[in-house]
Amino acid sequence: MPKILLLGAPGVGKSTHSAKITKDFGIPAIATGDILRDNLKRETELGKEAKVFVEAGELVPDELVIALMKDRLSEGDTKNGYLLDGFPRTIHQAEELDAYLAEEGGGLDYVLYLNAPKEVLVDRISGRRICSGCKTAFRVSEVPDGVCPGCGEELIIRKDDQAATAQKRIEVYNEQTAPLVDYYKNKGILTEFDAAHDIDTVQADIDKALGVQ
Ligand code: AMP
Repeated sequence: MPKILLLGAPGVGKSTHSAKITKDFGIPAIATGDILRDNLKRETELGKEAKVFVEAGELVPDELVIALMKDRLSEGDTKNGYLLDGFPRTIHQAEELDAYLAEEGGGLDYVLYLNAPKEVLVDRISGRRICSGCKTAFRVSEVPDGVCPGCGEELIIRKDDQAATAQKRIEVYNEQTAPLVDYYKNKGILTEFDAAHDIDTVQADIDKALGVQ
Protein backbone atom coordinates (compact mmCIF):
# COMPACT_ATOMS: atom_id res chain seq x y z
CA MET A 1 0.00 0.00 0.00
CA PRO A 2 1.30 3.41 -0.90
CA LYS A 3 2.64 6.30 1.11
CA ILE A 4 1.13 9.35 -0.57
CA LEU A 5 1.65 13.06 -0.03
CA LEU A 6 -0.97 15.56 -1.19
CA LEU A 7 0.79 18.85 -1.82
CA GLY A 8 -0.89 22.15 -2.64
CA ALA A 9 -1.97 25.57 -1.35
CA PRO A 10 -4.77 26.11 1.17
CA GLY A 11 -8.14 25.81 -0.58
CA VAL A 12 -6.86 23.77 -3.51
CA GLY A 13 -8.97 20.71 -2.54
CA LYS A 14 -6.57 18.46 -0.64
CA SER A 15 -9.08 17.22 1.94
CA THR A 16 -11.73 16.58 -0.74
CA HIS A 17 -9.41 14.33 -2.75
CA SER A 18 -7.89 12.81 0.38
CA ALA A 19 -11.29 11.36 1.31
CA LYS A 20 -11.61 9.40 -1.97
CA ILE A 21 -7.99 8.23 -2.15
CA THR A 22 -7.91 6.95 1.43
CA LYS A 23 -11.16 5.07 0.87
CA ASP A 24 -9.87 3.46 -2.34
CA PHE A 25 -6.67 2.23 -0.70
CA GLY A 26 -8.02 1.65 2.81
CA ILE A 27 -5.30 3.83 4.30
CA PRO A 28 -5.53 6.54 6.99
CA ALA A 29 -5.42 10.25 6.17
CA ILE A 30 -2.97 12.09 8.38
CA ALA A 31 -3.66 15.83 8.28
CA THR A 32 -1.48 17.97 10.55
CA GLY A 33 -4.05 20.80 10.43
CA ASP A 34 -6.76 18.47 11.83
CA ILE A 35 -4.43 17.13 14.54
CA LEU A 36 -3.44 20.68 15.54
CA ARG A 37 -7.05 21.93 15.59
CA ASP A 38 -8.02 18.97 17.76
CA ASN A 39 -5.20 19.84 20.20
CA LEU A 40 -6.30 23.50 20.25
CA LYS A 41 -9.84 22.45 21.08
CA ARG A 42 -8.74 20.11 23.86
CA GLU A 43 -6.31 22.78 25.16
CA THR A 44 -3.41 20.33 25.37
CA GLU A 45 0.17 21.60 25.90
CA LEU A 46 0.77 21.24 22.15
CA GLY A 47 -2.49 23.06 21.44
CA LYS A 48 -1.51 25.94 23.70
CA GLU A 49 1.89 26.26 21.98
CA ALA A 50 0.41 26.02 18.47
CA LYS A 51 -2.63 28.28 18.97
CA VAL A 52 -1.06 31.66 18.25
CA PHE A 53 0.50 30.40 14.99
CA VAL A 54 -2.58 28.57 13.69
CA GLU A 55 -4.89 31.50 14.41
CA ALA A 56 -2.54 33.95 12.68
CA GLY A 57 -2.23 31.73 9.59
CA GLU A 58 1.50 31.23 10.28
CA LEU A 59 3.31 27.90 10.31
CA VAL A 60 3.72 26.19 13.67
CA PRO A 61 7.48 25.83 14.40
CA ASP A 62 9.08 22.88 12.59
CA GLU A 63 10.26 21.09 15.72
CA LEU A 64 6.74 20.89 17.19
CA VAL A 65 5.21 19.57 13.99
CA ILE A 66 8.04 17.13 13.28
CA ALA A 67 7.78 15.61 16.78
CA LEU A 68 4.01 15.38 16.42
CA MET A 69 4.30 13.60 13.07
CA LYS A 70 6.98 11.14 14.18
CA ASP A 71 4.64 10.14 16.98
CA ARG A 72 1.68 9.80 14.63
CA LEU A 73 3.62 7.82 12.03
CA SER A 74 4.74 5.32 14.65
CA GLU A 75 1.12 4.27 15.33
CA GLY A 76 -0.03 0.84 14.18
CA ASP A 77 -2.49 1.98 11.49
CA THR A 78 0.35 3.37 9.34
CA LYS A 79 1.96 -0.02 8.62
CA ASN A 80 0.06 -0.44 5.34
CA GLY A 81 0.55 3.05 3.95
CA TYR A 82 -1.06 6.41 4.55
CA LEU A 83 -1.87 9.74 2.98
CA LEU A 84 -0.18 12.88 4.29
CA ASP A 85 -2.15 16.13 3.97
CA GLY A 86 -0.49 19.36 5.10
CA PHE A 87 2.87 17.85 6.08
CA PRO A 88 5.64 18.49 5.16
CA ARG A 89 5.25 22.24 4.65
CA THR A 90 8.89 23.33 4.73
CA ILE A 91 12.09 21.91 3.22
CA HIS A 92 13.33 21.14 6.74
CA GLN A 93 10.18 19.12 7.49
CA ALA A 94 10.59 17.26 4.17
CA GLU A 95 14.21 16.38 4.97
CA GLU A 96 13.24 15.16 8.43
CA LEU A 97 10.44 13.05 6.96
CA ASP A 98 12.84 11.55 4.40
CA ALA A 99 15.33 10.71 7.15
CA TYR A 100 12.58 9.10 9.25
CA LEU A 101 11.30 7.03 6.32
CA ALA A 102 14.84 6.04 5.28
CA GLU A 103 15.39 4.58 8.77
CA GLU A 104 12.46 2.30 8.05
CA GLY A 105 13.98 1.46 4.67
CA GLY A 106 11.42 3.33 2.55
CA GLY A 107 10.22 6.65 1.26
CA LEU A 108 7.15 8.33 -0.19
CA ASP A 109 5.69 6.56 -3.22
CA TYR A 110 3.67 9.42 -4.72
CA VAL A 111 3.59 13.19 -4.33
CA LEU A 112 0.36 14.50 -5.87
CA TYR A 113 0.73 18.23 -6.47
CA LEU A 114 -2.58 20.08 -6.85
CA ASN A 115 -2.03 23.43 -8.56
CA ALA A 116 -4.57 26.25 -9.05
CA PRO A 117 -4.41 30.04 -9.47
CA LYS A 118 -4.79 32.28 -6.43
CA GLU A 119 -8.31 33.50 -7.40
CA VAL A 120 -9.54 29.90 -7.32
CA LEU A 121 -8.00 29.34 -3.88
CA VAL A 122 -9.53 32.50 -2.39
CA ASP A 123 -12.92 31.64 -3.85
CA ARG A 124 -12.83 28.06 -2.51
CA ILE A 125 -11.68 29.10 0.96
CA SER A 126 -14.42 31.72 1.31
CA GLY A 127 -17.04 29.14 0.28
CA ARG A 128 -15.80 26.41 2.63
CA ARG A 129 -17.87 25.17 5.56
CA ILE A 130 -16.72 22.52 8.02
CA CYS A 131 -18.92 20.17 10.03
CA SER A 132 -18.44 20.90 13.73
CA GLY A 133 -19.01 17.18 14.40
CA CYS A 134 -17.33 14.96 11.78
CA LYS A 135 -15.07 17.71 10.28
CA THR A 136 -16.11 16.98 6.69
CA ALA A 137 -15.66 19.98 4.38
CA PHE A 138 -18.49 21.22 2.14
CA ARG A 139 -19.06 24.09 -0.26
CA VAL A 140 -21.65 26.54 1.09
CA SER A 141 -23.68 26.10 -2.12
CA GLU A 142 -24.04 22.33 -1.45
CA VAL A 143 -25.47 22.77 2.05
CA PRO A 144 -27.68 25.88 2.14
CA ASP A 145 -29.34 24.82 5.42
CA GLY A 146 -25.99 24.87 7.25
CA VAL A 147 -26.41 21.33 8.58
CA CYS A 148 -24.06 18.38 7.90
CA PRO A 149 -25.81 15.83 5.62
CA GLY A 150 -23.67 13.08 7.16
CA CYS A 151 -24.06 13.56 10.92
CA GLY A 152 -26.57 16.41 11.34
CA GLU A 153 -24.20 18.72 13.24
CA GLU A 154 -23.92 22.43 12.53
CA LEU A 155 -21.58 23.61 9.74
CA ILE A 156 -19.13 26.37 10.68
CA ILE A 157 -16.52 28.58 9.02
CA ARG A 158 -13.02 27.65 10.16
CA LYS A 159 -11.55 30.59 12.06
CA ASP A 160 -8.45 30.66 9.85
CA ASP A 161 -10.60 30.59 6.67
CA GLN A 162 -11.67 34.21 7.32
CA ALA A 163 -10.40 36.53 4.57
CA ALA A 164 -7.32 38.15 6.15
CA THR A 165 -6.00 34.90 7.64
CA ALA A 166 -6.70 32.95 4.47
CA GLN A 167 -4.70 35.53 2.49
CA LYS A 168 -1.83 35.15 4.96
CA ARG A 169 -1.92 31.34 4.65
CA ILE A 170 -1.62 31.59 0.86
CA GLU A 171 1.38 33.93 1.22
CA VAL A 172 3.01 31.59 3.74
CA TYR A 173 2.40 28.70 1.34
CA ASN A 174 4.10 30.55 -1.54
CA GLU A 175 7.12 31.46 0.59
CA GLN A 176 7.68 28.32 2.63
CA THR A 177 5.87 25.37 1.05
CA ALA A 178 6.01 26.01 -2.72
CA PRO A 179 9.77 25.13 -2.80
CA LEU A 180 8.74 21.54 -2.04
CA VAL A 181 7.47 21.22 -5.61
CA ASP A 182 11.03 21.30 -6.96
CA TYR A 183 12.30 19.24 -4.03
CA TYR A 184 10.01 16.33 -4.96
CA LYS A 185 10.30 16.91 -8.73
CA ASN A 186 14.02 16.34 -8.34
CA LYS A 187 13.30 13.03 -6.65
CA GLY A 188 11.13 11.99 -9.63
CA ILE A 189 8.03 11.18 -7.54
CA LEU A 190 5.89 14.28 -8.18
CA THR A 191 2.85 14.39 -10.47
CA GLU A 192 1.17 17.76 -11.10
CA PHE A 193 -2.62 18.17 -11.51
CA ASP A 194 -4.56 21.16 -12.74
CA ALA A 195 -6.81 21.60 -9.71
CA ALA A 196 -8.71 24.55 -11.21
CA HIS A 197 -10.86 21.91 -12.94
CA ASP A 198 -13.96 20.55 -11.21
CA ILE A 199 -13.56 17.92 -8.49
CA ASP A 200 -14.57 14.93 -10.66
CA THR A 201 -12.10 15.81 -13.43
CA VAL A 202 -9.23 16.25 -10.97
CA GLN A 203 -10.17 13.02 -9.19
CA ALA A 204 -10.21 11.12 -12.50
CA ASP A 205 -6.70 12.46 -13.27
CA ILE A 206 -5.52 11.38 -9.81
CA ASP A 207 -7.08 7.91 -10.19
CA LYS A 208 -5.24 7.46 -13.48
CA ALA A 209 -1.91 8.44 -11.91
CA LEU A 210 -2.47 6.03 -8.99
CA GLY A 211 -3.71 3.20 -11.24
CA VAL A 212 -7.20 3.19 -9.64
CA GLN A 213 -9.95 1.87 -11.95
P1 AMP B 1 -4.38 23.18 7.26
O1 AMP B 1 -5.64 22.63 7.85
O2 AMP B 1 -3.51 22.14 6.62
O3 AMP B 1 -4.62 24.35 6.35
O4 AMP B 1 -3.51 23.74 8.50
C1 AMP B 1 -4.02 24.73 9.35
C2 AMP B 1 -2.88 25.40 10.11
O5 AMP B 1 -2.18 24.45 10.93
C3 AMP B 1 -1.79 26.03 9.26
O6 AMP B 1 -2.16 27.34 8.80
C4 AMP B 1 -0.62 26.07 10.23
O7 AMP B 1 -0.78 27.10 11.20
C5 AMP B 1 -0.78 24.74 10.95
N1 AMP B 1 -0.06 23.64 10.26
C6 AMP B 1 -0.62 22.56 9.66
N2 AMP B 1 0.33 21.76 9.15
C7 AMP B 1 1.52 22.34 9.43
C8 AMP B 1 2.87 22.01 9.15
N3 AMP B 1 3.20 20.90 8.48
N4 AMP B 1 3.85 22.85 9.61
C9 AMP B 1 3.54 23.95 10.30
N5 AMP B 1 2.29 24.35 10.59
C10 AMP B 1 1.28 23.54 10.16
